Amino acid sequence: MIANSLETNAKVFEPGATIGILGSGQLGRMMAIAAKQMGYRVHIFSPTHDSPAGQVADLEIQASFDNLAVVERFAQRVDVITLETENIPMETVLVASQSAPVYPGLKALEFCQNRRKEKMFLADYGIPTCQFEIVRSLVELKSVCRYMMPAIVKTTTGGYDGKGQFLIQTPDQIEEAWHTLNANELIVEEFVEFDYEFSVIGARSSAGVFAAYPSIRNEHRDHILNLSFSPSGLSDQLNQRATEIVYEIMNEMDAVGVMAVEFFYRDGEILVNEMAPRPHNSGHLTIEAHVTSQFEQHIRAVCGLMLGITRQTIPAASANILGLEWNQSKSPTWQLGLSMPCVKLHLYGKESPEEKRKMGHMTALAQSAEKAKQYVVAARRLLNIPAMSLNANGTS
Ligand code: AMP
Repeated sequence: MIANSLETNAKVFEPGATIGILGSGQLGRMMAIAAKQMGYRVHIFSPTHDSPAGQVADLEIQASFDNLAVVERFAQRVDVITLETENIPMETVLVASQSAPVYPGLKALEFCQNRRKEKMFLADYGIPTCQFEIVRSLVELKSVCRYMMPAIVKTTTGGYDGKGQFLIQTPDQIEEAWHTLNANELIVEEFVEFDYEFSVIGARSSAGVFAAYPSIRNEHRDHILNLSFSPSGLSDQLNQRATEIVYEIMNEMDAVGVMAVEFFYRDGEILVNEMAPRPHNSGHLTIEAHVTSQFEQHIRAVCGLMLGITRQTIPAASANILGLEWNQSKSPTWQLGLSMPCVKLHLYGKESPEEKRKMGHMTALAQSAEKAKQYVVAARRLLNIPAMSLNANGTS
C-alpha cells in the first residue's frame, strides 16, 4: 500500500453517513450491499423502478439522469456520491457535485467517458497502448485502414461490452463499419493479436492512499467478459509493472474509489486497453477470494477510510451468467448449479433475461485457479440440465 500526497484534511464519512449512488445495476447493488454491511445508508438514483441496486438500498429515486432538479434534490439528501458507471452525463455529475463530493472525480470521468481522451491520456504519459487513430469521416477511415488492417473501430463515447465496435478485416467492410457505427467520431485501433487479457484493480482513497489487487486473467466471449480467474499466472515483474501503471493513471487522474485497468499481454509486453473508474466485472471474485472485496474497498475509498488489505486468500474463478442461460431450460436449475460446495452464486435481481444481459455470476474457490475455472464452468453448465432428467443420485 502506498501513501501518496496524504491529505490529512480529506473529509471522512463514517459509517452511519448516507452514500448516494448514481446508477442502479449490479455494480451499484454490490456496492450497496458492502456499504450496508458497514452500516452506511444508501440512496440509489435509478432510471428504472425496482432496480438491482434499488432492491437492496434504503431508498431508490427513480428519474432520468437529465432530470437535473431531481438530481439536485437527490444530492442534497446524501453525504457523498459515487457512480456505478462512467457513462453518467457530465451535466448530471456537475449538478450533483454542487451539493456533495462526487467520486471518482471529474478528471477521471472526463478521460474515461471518451475513448479518444482516454487513449490520448495514455499516449501523453507514455503508457503503452495499441496503435490508434481518430477519424471523423468515411474518407479518413478509408485512408487509415490502408495501413491499419485488421482494425477494431469503436465509437469514442457510449460503448460497452462490445457495443459500438466493429472489426474490419477486409477493405469491403469499411463502409459497412462507418454506417453501422453511425457516429461523428471513431477511434480506429490496431487489432492486437494478444496472448491473453488481464486486469489490475487499483484503489485510491480521498486521502490519496493507494492499494492494488493482484492481476486477474480475463476471457471474453462475443466481447463480453465470460470468465475471470486469479492468480493470473502473470510474472511478478509484469504484475509489478502493471500495478505501477495503475498507480500512475489513478494519481494523474486524481481518481478516488477503485479503478480497473484492462491490459493485453502480447509476447512479453503489456498494453493498456482501457480503464473503468469503478468496481469491475473481473473483480467480482474478490468478494470471496480476497481479504477486502473491491466493493468494500470502493466504499472505504470514497468515504476517506483506510483501505483494506487486498491480499488473495484462495485461488478463484468467476463466470458470468447471461440471459442466454434461461433459453435452454426455462429457469436455470439453481439447485444443481449450487451442488458443488465450493461454488457461490450471485444473482442481480433482474427481471427479463435478455440473451446478453448479465443476470448474475458464480465464483468457485479451489486449490488452483485452473481447478476453480473447471468448477465454475461445470457449475454454470449444470444450470442448463433440467432437474427432472436427474436420477435419484442427482446425476443425469
Ligand atoms: P473494450 O470495450 O474496448 O474493452 O473491448 C471489449 C473486448 O474486445 C476486449 O476485452 C478485447 O477482447 C476486444 N478488443 C478490444 N479492443 C481490441 C483491440 N484493439 N485488439 C484486439 N482485441 C480488442
